[in-house]
Amino acid sequence: MRKYDVIVVGGGIIGTALTWYLSRMGKRVALLEKVDLCNGSAGATDGYITPHTKQPGYHLELALESCKLYETLRAEIESDIDIELDLHCGGLQVCEDEMQWDLLCDNKEKLAASGLELYMLEIEEARKIEPAISPKMRGAMYSPIAGSVNPFRLAQAFVDNAKKLGARIQIEAGVDSLIFDGERLVGVRAAGENWYGDYVANCCGSWGGVLAKMAGLDIPITPKRGQIVVSEPAPPLLNTVMQTGLYTIIKFHPERITDERIFRLGLGFGIEQTRDGSLLIGGTRELVGFDRGNTLECIEGVVQTAQVYIPAIADLHFIRCFSGLRPHTPDGLPVLGRVPQVPGLVMCCGHEGDGIALAPVSGKLTAEEIVYGKTSFPIEPCSAGRFGKNK
Ligand SMILES: Cc1cc2nc3c(=O)[nH]c(=O)nc-3n(C[C@H](O)[C@H](O)[C@H](O)COP(=O)(O)OP(=O)(O)OC[C@H]3O[C@@H](n4cnc5c(N)ncnc54)[C@H](O)[C@@H]3O)c2cc1C
Repeated sequence: MRKYDVIVVGGGIIGTALTWYLSRMGKRVALLEKVDLCNGSAGATDGYITPHTKQPGYHLELALESCKLYETLRAEIESDIDIELDLHCGGLQVCEDEMQWDLLCDNKEKLAASGLELYMLEIEEARKIEPAISPKMRGAMYSPIAGSVNPFRLAQAFVDNAKKLGARIQIEAGVDSLIFDGERLVGVRAAGENWYGDYVANCCGSWGGVLAKMAGLDIPITPKRGQIVVSEPAPPLLNTVMQTGLYTIIKFHPERITDERIFRLGLGFGIEQTRDGSLLIGGTRELVGFDRGNTLECIEGVVQTAQVYIPAIADLHFIRCFSGLRPHTPDGLPVLGRVPQVPGLVMCCGHEGDGIALAPVSGKLTAEEIVYGKTSFPIEPCSAGRFGKNK
């Protein structure tokens, strides 16, 4: 019989982060992943850590808490893997016209009220930070606290160190049923075996609702597809991570978009230059179920939009594209913590487009909840009970 303190289900950025935090707290952990590490959106994503693209209030405060953890993470993870973390290259949200500028000015005031340092820059000022931006743009919101990490490398580093601390990592082990003792969840069935644990943590990303359903819960996590286009390695072009002014509206209030194509594709453009020089340009926000395909309409839309903001992109070759599924919840917040009606189950999923930024704080707080029964930062706004069906 396989018996652990915690069974973590899902080997994305969230499951690997939780496994690492639990292992550091001395817990015996088995991480079960249905395919391979980073099979889900953690393997098909950008690596932005951008607090200014979160919702004002709790969401932003959670992201800032995660940034604090990122500050010390590199020194704490005992692994030789370079996670390519840069938290201070700064982030720009560039606007094309007066409408986007007004939206950003309004959002800036709300975000600043939660303590974030932000500046609205006229285009001449913005181009001093990022000369590649077209002079035809209206201006930009600038956040000095913003950067990126390499999600693959981060997940690998979490696992690398967790294994040294005794964690078992099992790939090709999809959980297909749950094991109960009375009302209490005591284990899972995966890869033809029973795996028992004092707790089972649901870190299944877009599949989080599917796993929750096995426990009789109705948790509204919907996959939102994002398509990304990758350029050939290019000479240094960008100093910051960049998104458009519309990005936040598309993410949190798509109903306000009036352009049919932008609404249907969720065409919010962001751009990041990786260490090897490739540009990652994307991504869309589409409700197409679990379909992880790419479409010509989106790829063209992404590249054409990007050229309006950064004209030099017109000279680059694009070598591939990919897509991932963001685990979307109705209010944009993740689902964290215990579910009182299913003792033994802990949720840690539903991070939409913010799972890379929120991985450290989600892993740490969920581990605290499991080990100590309380957390060092509130997680009540993320409870499964907020959906009204899972009190
Ligand atoms: C195009 C795109 C761009 C993005 N950009 C950013 C960004 O710049 N910054 C940011 O912070 N976030 C970004 N995100 C969001 C981020 O990628 C996700 O929030 C994050 O990866 C979610 O991680 P996860 O571990 O919860 O889910 P996943 O990475 O999807 O992992 C879930 C894992 O669970 C496994 N699984 C599912 N069911 C089972 C089962 N029954 N048994 C065992 N295993 C199972 C899956 O195989 C998968 O590996 C982006 C997402 C996309 C798609």
